[in-house]
Order: sequence, then structure tokens, then C-alpha cells
Amino acid sequence: MKQIELDGSRGEGGGQILRTALSLSMITGRPFVIERIRAGRKKPGLLRQHLTAVQAASAICGARTEGATPGSERLSFQPGPIRAGDYRFAIGSAGSCTLVLQTVLPALWFADGPSTLAVSGGTHNPAAPPADFLIRSWQPLMQRMGVTLDIELRRHGFYPAGGGEVRATTAPVTAWRPLDLEDRGALCRISATGIVAGIAADVARRETARAASQLGALAEELRVLPASEGPGNTLLLTLEYEKVTEIFSACGERGLPAETVADRAAAEARQYRDSAAAVGQHLADQLLLPVALAGQGRFTTDVLSPHLKTNGQIIESFLPLRFGFAAGERCVRVSLG
Ligand code: AMP
Repeated sequence: MKQIELDGSRGEGGGQILRTALSLSMITGRPFVIERIRAGRKKPGLLRQHLTAVQAASAICGARTEGATPGSERLSFQPGPIRAGDYRFAIGSAGSCTLVLQTVLPALWFADGPSTLAVSGGTHNPAAPPADFLIRSWQPLMQRMGVTLDIELRRHGFYPAGGGEVRATTAPVTAWRPLDLEDRGALCRISATGIVAGIAADVARRETARAASQLGALAEELRVLPASEGPGNTLLLTLEYEKVTEIFSACGERGLPAETVADRAAAEARQYRDSAAAVGQHLADQLLLPVALAGQGRFTTDVLSPHLKTNGQIIESFLPLRFGFAAGERCVRVSLG
């Protein structure tokens, strides 16, 4: 089969180009080579999280690889048949467990039987989906599309210590159901959850109070974890609607006031809340691959983000399809088929 050549500096220029290529190479059996991996990032090349995604993909389909080394900016990947199994992968840093899971889960939907996965590393990282987002926002939509999936957060892990673990059980998809998510439905509940591990609970309290001052009345919740799971802090803003649950988050950083952490998450939540879109920008770029696997579907989102555009282009280079992106009333319409 003809090898696909990808430029990792294209568009968004991040790790998603590599992860989507790994998923689709496993599923289609098409080999690929990628140059200039993550050229758009401060530290380009394969970091531990990306390397673990490559190793996980290789283990699941017995791939032959070249360039699967730390810091590598070029990788060639020749996949073999996808094998169901009980897999365990350790990132060995606070690299994102959820992004590794999202790379290999789609392949296991085309495997020869049910599988389990355990990934250790970071579960609540900046610039990645927190485990809560995967479980409460992404997973229900996958289930609605016909996917058998059960993701569990076993232990929290924060940057830079890591040490968290996420597990998943899944099975081959027998019948895809196209996603049809034009609107989010009525608002059911808004909550702010301050998570702290080895950090004063007052930090979480200040974050949830600030979020309430930014977003209006909401349920304020604290998740105070054992110090051994930290140090770490994340604020989750959960907006539950009839048809979708969205989670906007921000991670605490040394020297960053709790109020600033809350303002970051609240700004994203407000942008989404004030739009007419069904899903926010992160969920949107993470829905594109499953929609492509289902062969058709549609949803609305609040912005046409660089991640969404670039991910669409990578998917289109593996599969004979074209996504539609069109401006709607206070939203962007994404459609396939
Ligand atoms: P990349 O930057 O290419 O490694 O891709 C990062 C991925 O993480 C994209 O799918 C983003 O939408 C997703 N992501 C980043 N931040 C968040 C967040 N706060 N919540 C959910 N997903 C996120």
C-alpha cells in the first residue's frame, strides 16, 4: 500500500497530527512517514507522551517503525493487523494519559475482540483533555455513536510529578450510528469543581468562588485528594445540557493566582455558553475522527479552531472523504456525508 507523506509543521503543527495519523494508519493499514514532528511547538519532536503513543500503537498492531526515539522529528510507521488484548502503557512522566488513550482506542474499535487498556502518567495536564473531560464529555458521545467504552480514572496525576492512571475497556464496534448534534438542548446544571492534591483546599475554594462570580450561580464542589497524588490543582467547569456535557478546565501553576486559573477556564466556558454551538472547540476537534469512522455525521461548534481544520486535513489524507465547515448562526456547522 502506498505510503502517506505528512508534514508535521502543517497548520496547527502539534501532536494531534501524529496521533491522528497513528490511529488511521492502524485502521486503514496504510503506512506513513511524518517529517517535522510538532514543528509548531516550543520543544519540537517526540516527547514522552508522543513516544508512548507510537509505542502503544506499535504494540497493538505489530508495526515496524523508524525514528521512534526521544526528540525525533521524523517517524516512519508501517502497521500490521490490529490485535485485541490487555495492554498497559507507562508514559514515565506527566505526559497526558488521555491523549495516548485517544490514539489507540479507535484502532481497538476495529480489533478482533474486546480489549482493556491501562495508561499511567498525567491525568490533568495543561493543553490536554483532563480525564474527567474524557469520561463525562467525550465518552457519552462515543457511546451514542455505537462504541462500547468504559473509562475509569484510577488515580490522579498532575504535571510535573505524573503518577496517575486511567483504564479503559472497549470492544469492536458492530454498528456505527452517525452523530447528529445540531444543538445542545436546554441547560440542566452548571458546576465548578476545584481539585487539589497536596495544595491548600482554600485554593480550590477561591477558584470555584471566582468561577461563580464570572458565570453566575453554580454548584461549587471541592475534590480534596491525598497529598501523595500531588502536588496539583485543576479547576473543572461542567456545563450539563440535555444533549451534551461540556467541561472547561484550567490547571494551577506555581505563582499563578487561583483567580487567574478560574478566569482562564471561565473565559472558554463563557465563549461556548454565549454561542449557539452544541460543542466547544476541544470536543469538536476530538469528534472529527470518530465521525469519519462512522462515515457520516454532523455537529455545531463555537469556532473553527486550527486544531479542527488541521485534524480534518489529516483525516482527509487517509480516508476518501471531505468534511464540510460552514458558518451558521453564532456557530460553525461541521458535517460529513
Ligand atoms: P496537540 O496540541 O496537537 O497535542 O493536541 C491537544 C489536544 O488536546 C487537542 O485535541 C485539544 O482539543 C485537546 N485539549 C487541549 N486542552 C484541552 C482542554 N482544556 N480540555 C479538553 N481538551 C483539550
